[in-house]
Amino acid sequence: MPDAQIRRLRSPPMGAVILSRTAVIGGGASGIAAALSAAKSGGEVTIYERGPRIGRKILATGNGRCNMTNINASEEHYHGAHPEFVRGAVNRFWVGETLDFFSRIGVLYKVEDGGRVYPYSDQASAVLDSLRRALAMSGVNIICGFDVRSVKKHGGGFIITPYSGSPVKADKVIISSGGKAAPDLGSNGGGYELLKSFGHSITSLRPSLVQLKTRGDTAKRLKGIKVNAKASLGDFCENGEVLFTDYGLSGPAVFSLTSRYCSQKLLTLDIMSEYSFPEVADMLFERRSRLGNIPLEDFFTGMLNKRVGQTILKAVIQSPLSRGAGTLTDAEIRTIASVIKKWGFEIEGTMSWNNAQVTKGGARTDEFDPETMESKLERGLFAAGEVLDIDGDCGGYNLQWAWSSGYIAGKNA
Ligand SMILES: Cc1cc2nc3c(=O)[nH]c(=O)nc-3n(C[C@H](O)[C@H](O)[C@H](O)COP(=O)(O)OP(=O)(O)OC[C@H]3O[C@@H](n4cnc5c(N)ncnc54)[C@H](O)[C@@H]3O)c2cc1C
Repeated sequence: MPDAQIRRLRSPPMGAVILSRTAVIGGGASGIAAALSAAKSGGEVTIYERGPRIGRKILATGNGRCNMTNINASEEHYHGAHPEFVRGAVNRFWVGETLDFFSRIGVLYKVEDGGRVYPYSDQASAVLDSLRRALAMSGVNIICGFDVRSVKKHGGGFIITPYSGSPVKADKVIISSGGKAAPDLGSNGGGYELLKSFGHSITSLRPSLVQLKTRGDTAKRLKGIKVNAKASLGDFCENGEVLFTDYGLSGPAVFSLTSRYCSQKLLTLDIMSEYSFPEVADMLFERRSRLGNIPLEDFFTGMLNKRVGQTILKAVIQSPLSRGAGTLTDAEIRTIASVIKKWGFEIEGTMSWNNAQVTKGGARTDEFDPETMESKLERGLFAAGEVLDIDGDCGGYNLQWAWSSGYIAGKNA
């Protein structure tokens, strides 16, 4: 590449103060945090963003309210080949520091159920606007429509080449280009290629915090109905709302469980989790004796969602539901109780990247220093956020990782 094509590559005049130049590739949550902390240390900081604007995904978070962190965030809420990698961030810039940081830039926040933190205004746009104001006050350059194709070592620094336009030079590079989830919001997995070109390995990638596709038509027949349930996947369970859809299961409890999904074949729902199996069975025996004259199709009316109840009955009982409830046998009642407590749905897979909130997998974290986020393979190269093999549970944990890893990378760049 002829040097003439390389912007900002010329040597500074003799005696000039040489400012270090930090390039942040990707203007999402982690890139913005990285740019702000790098700017605090002085030097010239530029965010290169492929999309038309920075922070588009932030606007979509928390259903437009931005669940910005969780006061219960700890290592156990994170996954990856080396979840202990987050410890470096926990010890340096974690929830307390993040909340102080947001207070300083003018974001008043509130804590809701489960420790979820939201802006007091309930507006994700308030978080992004405050971050943009902080970037402007810190003198960070923002170049949008700059889709980075390659980053290469050049002398003591790096050359960053976009798909269209002229290359630029930087002394330090922070790759904060996200994963593969929600590609319509900018992150298309391109960051993995940039890191691979420096010898970094990428683990297998899977959508996480995403809906599950299930076999059969049970979920489809109940499309649109929500139940409160304990959803279980192997050894993991989540309590919360489950939504039946035409492709399978959705809702917060299912979303959360997919952070634990690998190849399990079955998800079970306990739709009366406050009661034990014997208590549910006794309830049904008593119901049979009290309401024996009503047709079976009304047996659950007043106890469960009517369509849910009928679907369970149809799964257990072969004869028409016009039969009287009093004809239920003891064995049938026990089977119905067991379905209520452990309703199995065969998993076909997850919905696609377009539906996912987060990427499971990413750049192997044992190739980065957890205290600085610097690559162990290339000095001056850093990574932050979802591009790394760390993903969190549902509830503000992923943004916390983005803020923390970004802040630490920027500080050390
Ligand atoms: C709908 C939705 C709701 C969510 N809600 C929450 C929530 O409430 N709480 C929570 O904690 N988490 C939530 N998440 C997850 C969270 O938003 C992400 O984990 C987090 O934003 C990741 O930040 P990041 O900076 O690593 O990546 P991203 O936010 O994906 O940012 C990466 C940026 O890099 C840019 N980029 C990519 N490649 C290049 C390239 N080659 N050159 C230049 N730029 C590039 C992209 O355009 C993008 O702007 C949600 C996610 C989604 C999709």
